[in-house]
Amino acid sequence: MGHGGAYVHEVSPAVDARRRTIVDVPWTWLRQVHGDDVVTVRSPGDGAGTKADAAVTDRAGCAVAVLTADCAPIALLSREGVVGAVHAGWRGLVGGVVERAVERARQLGAHQLRAALGPCIHPECYEFGAADLDTVAARLGDGVRGITARGTRALDVPAAVRAALHAAGVTDVDDVNVCTACSDDYFSWRARAEQGRQALVVWRD
Ligand SMILES: [Zn+2]
Repeated sequence: MGHGGAYVHEVSPAVDARRRTIVDVPWTWLRQVHGDDVVTVRSPGDGAGTKADAAVTDRAGCAVAVLTADCAPIALLSREGVVGAVHAGWRGLVGGVVERAVERARQLGAHQLRAALGPCIHPECYEFGAADLDTVAARLGDGVRGITARGTRALDVPAAVRAALHAAGVTDVDDVNVCTACSDDYFSWRARAEQGRQALVVWRD
């Protein structure tokens, strides 16, 4: 999981070189739209620029990447060598992007799947409207209801991610347990109106 080296609109040679030091293959980037579409990457760089919020691959030399600031970046990994990257904000979670990505990974042959959740906004910093919170809770259960540091209604994104993964049969979930709004080490749109994004990249050797 890399951070601080990728920006939404920046594709300078310096940034590309920095990315290549992480994994030296073309990265498949997505046009993230908070939807539920999943891209299957069949060759290095395949599917780049597709409107989607998740990508999976079972091919060697393929790297799939998502950009996030406060939304959840999720890596899918499997013993069978199928991997994936998911960008999930609350709309994507309600839309089922996590479950769809898992389903696609299984179609590619993943049986023993596990997931890793990267830095995202945590409930203490994520005040949330009542109606939208009801929508997420109706989809993923009341465990998504959290409380902010000020004592107001919040969405618990990590809990929502875990609920979606569990619904899809993935119970082995690692969480770096970092709130992007609290941490100075990561970009946050909500906390600091930062334009930068973290990159999550997952690849097959
Ligand atoms: Zn926080």
